[in-house]
Amino acid sequence: MKIFCVGRNYGEHARELGNTVPENPVVFMKPDTALLKNNEPFYLPDFSNDVHHEIELVIRINKVGKKIEEKFARNYFNEIGLGIDFTARDLQNNLKAKGLPWELAKAFDHSAPISTHFISIDKFIFENISFSLKKNGETVQKGNRKDMIFSFEKIIAFVSNYFTLKIGDLIYTGTPAGVGKVNIGDKLEGFIENEHMLTCEIK
Ligand code: MG
Repeated sequence: MKIFCVGRNYGEHARELGNTVPENPVVFMKPDTALLKNNEPFYLPDFSNDVHHEIELVIRINKVGKKIEEKFARNYFNEIGLGIDFTARDLQNNLKAKGLPWELAKAFDHSAPISTHFISIDKFIFENISFSLKKNGETVQKGNRKDMIFSFEKIIAFVSNYFTLKIGDLIYTGTPAGVGKVNIGDKLEGFIENEHMLTCEIK
């Protein structure tokens, strides 16, 4: 399976990192070894002093497809989960400054916690799907699907123009503003609407 991630998909978050809002989705990938399942703890890696949390809605592909038109993209996913795109921000800033790929900062082991369950998208009405991240009981990130620059459908159309999508592939769809450093002892909890989706303790 493949894990796709979209960067800079919420205007406020793009601006908080000093980035411009992109014309096309900013896409990168993580290997399957990045997944962190079953609410297991995250151990801070020794190569970074500034690992950030990025809470993101995640869609799971349920049908094989390539070059999917945006108007048919809705047929390729049916469930939404929640994930964290852990980012070694210090390393990423160095790589960005040198024009190098981001993998070392984004795709390392266990950099992609994923919720224990997914929710059928039919449970939501209209475009509104709110989600949030609490750190040590305090809400630090809040997002809503309606504020995405590129919709789920646009992302699927764009990504599938380059990569065949397969059943089980995950797409992390970008983080809203409020990213920040995690420290040993922190407890992260993610929610879609009021439903608890994941817990991740930092060790
Ligand atoms: Mg992200």
